[in-house]
Amino acid sequence: MIFEVDKYRRDFPILERSVYGKPLVYLDNAASTQTPRQVVREIEKIYYTHKANVHRGVHTLSQEATAMQEATRERVRRFINASSTEEIIFTRGTTEAINLVASSYGSLLSEGDEVVLTVMEHHANIVPWQLLEKRVGIRLRVVPILADGSLDMEAYRSMLGERTRIVSVCHVSNVLGTVNPVAEIVRLGHEAGAVVMIDGAQAIAHTPVDVQALDADFYAFSAHKMYGPTGIGVLYGRRRLLELMPPYQGGGEMISHVSFDHTTFADLPFKFEAGTPDYVGIAAFHRAIDYIESIGQERIAAHEDDLMQYTQDQMLTIPGMRIFGTAPGKSAIISFLIGNAHHYDTGMLLDKLGVAVRTGHHCAQPLMHALGVEGTVRAAFALYNTRSECDSFIAALRRIAPMLS
Ligand code: PMP
Repeated sequence: MIFEVDKYRRDFPILERSVYGKPLVYLDNAASTQTPRQVVREIEKIYYTHKANVHRGVHTLSQEATAMQEATRERVRRFINASSTEEIIFTRGTTEAINLVASSYGSLLSEGDEVVLTVMEHHANIVPWQLLEKRVGIRLRVVPILADGSLDMEAYRSMLGERTRIVSVCHVSNVLGTVNPVAEIVRLGHEAGAVVMIDGAQAIAHTPVDVQALDADFYAFSAHKMYGPTGIGVLYGRRRLLELMPPYQGGGEMISHVSFDHTTFADLPFKFEAGTPDYVGIAAFHRAIDYIESIGQERIAAHEDDLMQYTQDQMLTIPGMRIFGTAPGKSAIISFLIGNAHHYDTGMLLDKLGVAVRTGHHCAQPLMHALGVEGTVRAAFALYNTRSECDSFIAALRRIAPMLS
């Protein structure tokens, strides 16, 4: 079946705009994807017809808004094949989901316990554990990468031991595109008696995720990277662990009864959802998942992979081109530098030609250090990108490369 990219593009009005008089070529998809009409219309519909605070009112609007939010919880459960909606916690994003686990599950750890991370983690999967290191005295172990950007699995095995309590690893690297062997990572982590958290921020829009098949204990992702609204995300957690864990934040919604002598907490998942959530965003997120599934994650991934390979092959013919991350089966992300040109200059010049890429350390400074660079330029593909956009990007690179050397 052909991939009807032109049809899908019509769902994203932003793709029609121009930048500096040039048609926009949006390749900053690993930072945030664009949002289709189906989702934006749903947001408008909710604001105009159903907006009222959730889980609070007996009145019709509140009940409708609550039903819409809870319908998304069930939609997410089905999307990642969790066994129950009690295991789906809405957060502000991946970052908050990881902070929740590091803070709450982390409070059950003791001095000298070990948390295993990898050098390719986003700061969102490093700093919360460093805060725990300061608070509790845990020890961080960091798995290195091999030359092609794949994880050093030998080193990982050697770091698992009696004191390993948590392993927290990205499913897909936001810089290298490396797809980590997460099922194997989970299996080995469990063998060592640890719980395993997967940062799925870069995977969820590109690959089907089945948390039961993966056997992951925690899995985190953000809606804005999957054609959904900004400001919401999901933490999947294994029920047995969520039940053990103390609340992350206190406030309305997460309690059963409050008195100054004794407060009891709500059942899952509400125990972890203090305060008014972004219930409009959550309700509209439903349509983003519908959108992805209506096209099919495998078909989206095949399309993106084709664009990435096509682009990368041509980039390699440009003198001085350096590509970071060439692991087999990598995701549709290309991190690069042109010779010793500064990533910022490359990004600025590309912008003037209408091409939006990401530049900098990509919130992965330890990885930049391991790669021996300060930053890179990153192009990341989404379902609405086309070969003709790849050609524009390559033409722009060919034009600016001589200026930069
Ligand atoms: N982890 C990875 C791998 C990411 O790419 C990102 C987003 N750049 C995050 C975590 C953080 O996601 P958010 O900012 O949506 O919380």
